Amino acid sequence: MPKVNCSLCAALVEGRTLASPQKLENRILDLIKKDRPEWEAKRGICANCLEQYRAKKFVTYLEAEYQKLSELEHSVVSKITTPSFC
Ligand SMILES: [Zn+2]
Repeated sequence: MPKVNCSLCAALVEGRTLASPQKLENRILDLIKKDRPEWEAKRGICANCLEQYRAKKFVTYLEAEYQKLSELEHSVVSKITTPSFC
């Protein structure tokens, strides 16, 4: 099996395990380009990098949703997520 470098982290992996940039979601491509403006989206990225950016996309989505909540909802969320010591 020919091994090739991931175009993001440079890990040496089997060519068939690389995800081709043409097949990635636009939102993932945007996140990668934000981190790596020099990346040209011409060569594939490894499964690890893809996982990282998938996770990042999810967090970005959650943050955006959180911003949409009202003040009241924010206080409810912090009550749930802040441990109580009473
Ligand atoms: Zn990689």
